[in-house]
Amino acid sequence: MVIVVGTGAGGGILAYELARNDVPVTILEKGPYINSGDAFKYYDKYSDEVDLLTTTCIGGASIVSMSNMVRALDEEFLEYGIDLTDAYEYVEELVGVHQLDDSHIGKGTRAFLDAGHELGLNTMKMPKAIREEDCIQCGKCAFGCPVNAKWSGKDFVDLAVEAGAELICDAEVVRVISKDSKATGVEYIKDDKKQSVYSDTVILAAGAIGSTLILRSSGIEDAGRELFFDPFVSVGGYIKDINFNTEVQMAGLVIGKNFVLSPHFSSFIRANIPDDSVEDKDILSIMVKTADECRGFVCDDGDVVKINTINDIRYLAEGVATAGFILEKAGVDPNTIGSTVYRGAHPGGTAPIGKIVDSNQETSIEGLYVSDASVLPISPGKPPILTILALSKRLADYILNK
Ligand SMILES: Cc1cc2nc3c(=O)[nH]c(=O)nc-3n(C[C@H](O)[C@H](O)[C@H](O)COP(=O)(O)OP(=O)(O)OC[C@H]3O[C@@H](n4cnc5c(N)ncnc54)[C@H](O)[C@@H]3O)c2cc1C
Repeated sequence: MVIVVGTGAGGGILAYELARNDVPVTILEKGPYINSGDAFKYYDKYSDEVDLLTTTCIGGASIVSMSNMVRALDEEFLEYGIDLTDAYEYVEELVGVHQLDDSHIGKGTRAFLDAGHELGLNTMKMPKAIREEDCIQCGKCAFGCPVNAKWSGKDFVDLAVEAGAELICDAEVVRVISKDSKATGVEYIKDDKKQSVYSDTVILAAGAIGSTLILRSSGIEDAGRELFFDPFVSVGGYIKDINFNTEVQMAGLVIGKNFVLSPHFSSFIRANIPDDSVEDKDILSIMVKTADECRGFVCDDGDVVKINTINDIRYLAEGVATAGFILEKAGVDPNTIGSTVYRGAHPGGTAPIGKIVDSNQETSIEGLYVSDASVLPISPGKPPILTILALSKRLADYILNK
């Protein structure tokens, strides 16, 4: 039997791959089982110092994701003897990665793509795992899809349960039980009662913060000392009747040397413009995302401290300037262009490969593995889900062949 902790990007596929190969699986999820459209109610809270976006519910943060799917860190993984080529091909087909049909590319996204091309930038449609036939183009991906048109970890959990896995929700894993440095099970809290389930194979996929806390309380104290979170801001301004707020979000992509840009609506931009007649439909904005240095850490109470280095700020500034050029070229009034605050939505690096886990994602406790954003050795500065899926598929194969 295998215990999988967490049902997000890393946990869902592991449970599914193992269960469909007749391995008995018990899945423990801290949050509730919900409809995708209700996911916005399950965002976590951190201190006022840091604006980090994560969720606690079935599907984890993947349920509020935009389903952007790009390969990342291929070269870096080779240094650890990890070749993800086959795993990437497998998961891309499994979740249906593709660029959206033009019927799902709205006016604002088209303006972004055209401006990017005209400026000679590396511009393309974003690869996604969204089913156009179901998508109603409401612009609400980050709230949780109201019509289940995009892939999330929840899809794999449902398939895993169909294949025989046991799912226990509202169950917070607090520590891994071990004997002589070998995993023997986990302790979790459900209905205010401490309970245990036993297995010699435990996979933590509780996300960068959740897995850190479990590792620490299981004796792996060094977890969570090198956090990154791929910082981002959205930069935008006024362009009358662009109606970008109801388009599929982040359907375009510009890849720069030190940043990525993607069209992304933020209502905070409207709040920056002192003209009350400006409405959400009159805003075009671009998300600027960068790779940051691993200089944050997770506190023992689950809060997060983030330190910005000079390179973090420099890369963000380069991206913001480029976004400004695109917006102006796309027809946005340059006098209205402003930015949101600095945020993060891709926490990772808290149990990095090569330090806390080895190349098979196993910790110093035999039989205890980690397979989520924690194991990424550096910040990808790009959407990490596809990489987490590929790593988890590779780990599932390793466990099946052991
Ligand atoms: C708004 C938003 C949009 C995003 N869009 C994209 C995108 O388009 N593409 C992309 O690649 N990335 C995107 N991301 C980032 C992506 O969602 C995350 O990087 C990814 O989901 C991380 O996967 P994970 O497995 O590490 O953690 P998660 O997916 O967060 O899963 C962790 C799971 O563990 C559970 N858990 C936590 N603690 C415990 C515990 N103690 N016991 C049991 N269960 C526990 C949580 O409830 C959760 O279900 C987005 C993030 C946000 C917030």
